[in-house]
Amino acid sequence: MGGECGVLVFAEQEDGRIHNVVYELLGKGRDLANKLGKSLCAVLLGHNLDEEAKELIYYGADIVYLFDHPSLKEFDVIKYKHNIVKLVNSVKPDIILVGATRIGRSLAPRVAAALRTGLTADCVDLDLDEEGNLIQIRPAFSGNIMAQIKTRTKPQMATVRYKMMRPLARDPSRKGEIVKVDAEIPEDTGIEILGKVDAGGINISEAEIIVAAGRGLKRPEDLRLLEELASLLGGVVGSSRPLVDAGWISREHQVGFSGNTVKPKVYFAFGISGSPQHLFGMRDSDIIIAVNKDPSAPIIGVSDYYVIGDLYEIIPTLIHDLKKVRSALTHDEE
Ligand SMILES: Cc1cc2nc3c(=O)[nH]c(=O)nc-3n(C[C@H](O)[C@H](O)[C@H](O)COP(=O)(O)OP(=O)(O)OC[C@H]3O[C@@H](n4cnc5c(N)ncnc54)[C@H](O)[C@@H]3O)c2cc1C
Repeated sequence: MGGECGVLVFAEQEDGRIHNVVYELLGKGRDLANKLGKSLCAVLLGHNLDEEAKELIYYGADIVYLFDHPSLKEFDVIKYKHNIVKLVNSVKPDIILVGATRIGRSLAPRVAAALRTGLTADCVDLDLDEEGNLIQIRPAFSGNIMAQIKTRTKPQMATVRYKMMRPLARDPSRKGEIVKVDAEIPEDTGIEILGKVDAGGINISEAEIIVAAGRGLKRPEDLRLLEELASLLGGVVGSSRPLVDAGWISREHQVGFSGNTVKPKVYFAFGISGSPQHLFGMRDSDIIIAVNKDPSAPIIGVSDYYVIGDLYEIIPTLIHDLKKVRSALTHDEE
């Protein structure tokens, strides 16, 4: 579908890799653009990204505005904002969607301020009212209610949390248009990237198996049990917020409303009660397995399997049994 731009998605990339949230935004954006009867557009800034621009079309974009310049290779909020604002003023989308990622959260408010428009942060769903206005759905009051927000100004802008929406299936036969736009590079943005340091962090949002612990854990050193189990299962350690607040584990492990949203194949919850704020971040996991002493803990109600018992008995037994299975398998192979 060509013509007027209904929805513009910011196609975040880092080191030439499109962030998966972009494909989710294109999935939702496709639906919104169809309802508006307008095009779904994406804006991609970077260097040598022709193949990535095609991917955006395969995932639903009608038009990709590509700003290709060596100095856009790394994210620079001022350069990115400058070019996006120029584009928006020219193509006039009704709606702009940005992933609620580290980069998106830094960029979106600056773009919104420059356009003198509103911005709703951290949406978990989006819809349109009868007049084609964006309804931005996000948790409010500590995640206890879902607020439906309409901004009066246009374009309507939202950042959207990762793992909340479904991407379309990749279709390499999809056709679209890649429009190369000359980038304008502001001279001195005050930002110079000297190098990148790998923080060695985990990316819990992408993990397929998460072994998470909560306040049922008595001592920080007991996290080793979780680490051992996670390593045997090929997973990563997750945590409820109190352990992060106590400094036992870093924030990148936190699952929930003020942490990360996760959708693993298997989510183990050891000694986690299942507060609304925790459930918010993990309830869409394929399989939830809870271990809790208290049969009335809310986590039990959302779990596919549960054990009422003491994590200090159950985790060592699991570790022991998994090691036994593993060594039996290695013997078989020999
Ligand atoms: C604005 C806001 C944002 C928040 N964001 C988040 C967030 O992102 N993520 C988050 O997790 N929380 C968040 N919270 C905090 C949240 O409200 C809860 O306080 C928190 O999730 C509780 O963590 P928990 O389940 O580990 O602890 P608790 O609620 O204390 O539960 C501990 C559980 O362990 C069980 N238990 C105890 N000993 C054992 C044992 N030996 N074996 C087995 N089970 C045992 C108990 O029965 C209990 O169910 C937020 C709160 C607010 C107000």
